[in-house]
Amino acid sequence: MLRRLRSAARELLRPDSPKPQRDHATSVGMLPPPVPVPIEEVFESGCPRDPILKLDGCPVCGSTEATRVGRYNKFVLYERIPDTAATIYNYALCHDCGVVYATARPAGGRYDWLLEHFEETIGRTGLGDQRAGKVTLSSYALTDETRDQLRRLASRGIFVSDHSGVSRKEYVPALMVDRLANSVHVEILGSLLTMNRPRVLEIRSRLGGISAALKRLYDADCQALTLFENQQHLIQEVYGIPAKCPIDFDHFEIPFEGQFDLIVSKHMVTHAVRPREFLATVRSRLRPGGHLYIYSEFVEAEFLEQGHSMFNTLNPFHLQTFNTPSAVRALEANGFKMVFCTMHDGHFLGLAQKLEDIPSDWQRMTHEERGRRRGQYRLAFDLAVLQVPESLRSRVAQEWDGALERSLENGTAEIVKKGHVKVRPPKGGKLKSSPDH
Ligand SMILES: [Zn+2]
Repeated sequence: MLRRLRSAARELLRPDSPKPQRDHATSVGMLPPPVPVPIEEVFESGCPRDPILKLDGCPVCGSTEATRVGRYNKFVLYERIPDTAATIYNYALCHDCGVVYATARPAGGRYDWLLEHFEETIGRTGLGDQRAGKVTLSSYALTDETRDQLRRLASRGIFVSDHSGVSRKEYVPALMVDRLANSVHVEILGSLLTMNRPRVLEIRSRLGGISAALKRLYDADCQALTLFENQQHLIQEVYGIPAKCPIDFDHFEIPFEGQFDLIVSKHMVTHAVRPREFLATVRSRLRPGGHLYIYSEFVEAEFLEQGHSMFNTLNPFHLQTFNTPSAVRALEANGFKMVFCTMHDGHFLGLAQKLEDIPSDWQRMTHEERGRRRGQYRLAFDLAVLQVPESLRSRVAQEWDGALERSLENGTAEIVKKGHVKVRPPKGGKLKSSPDH
């Protein structure tokens, strides 16, 4: 159990940055097309079959107009899957806000199970294999002993100098890593907001880095929500910042009293089972004119423009993805006005201010944008189909012929010797693909 939780923790705590992937611009397909066979349930998982939400409208803006743009998530690339339904999310492009969302998505106990079993389920960790987990970054349930151990390590402080002679095993290097990695967000917030002892909530804080810096610089009164108990413990121990865990991605709640001037949220819009409710909860806890800062949100450019496989990028927790204009619309449709947004390390970040009312006249996506993105998604989906490893290709048998035909026609694929299919990314970029297991 611990092993599973540790693995899940490692996965969750990854910053979700695009990993270096090998160049896949070589032979990836072979003719003739694969024979359709049902996806096998090769993993006796015990994954609850329910609930799976079937959405008939956009979970971000409520619009019912949408175009289907993708069938599979990353599970389709893994040999072991918990059950057939786990691979099929039927992603749709909302015609109004432009967010792409999974119309079939796990919720409740099923979502929790996937979180707890993430790495094991997707085949990154074999059954019975052990991966080393660090006590500071994993979801170890704390015992009196590990609690004491963390307290002892944390007592060395955050900035432990290399010349001090203190071994890395005697302190928590991850604390400084977290401070430095998150300083970019502190710089943005401090430059764009006037902060005078603001009340701040940090959602999905790793080790309290943003809260600690805001406390140091602006005397902020911070609270933090973490995924795991050891993070909660460390944040309280090191910074004296109240922290609570875990985070409910389905029915999100804020277990602190009162209103906030600023709510900082990491990678939550992408993962939220009910993003509208998530944003409504956040909004209800912001003071008039308060701000929401979101970061590490995942954007579609990764697979539409940068050549990553769409299937590989859309992991089973990526329930929403978008582009910048869609993020602006999505926030406005939920009562926030974008103040500033940019891309950082391949991910979206944005600062938005709470509007007094939720507007009904927010700008909808244009026909031009819709048409362009539908075309891009078609292309990306086809290329992802053609890049499915040969051993798993039967799973995309029903899409294979169409994908190959279109890709040959539009020049993103060609048949080379021995009947292999070579694919190249749109816009002449370097194709990056391949599942990373
Ligand atoms: Zn929408």
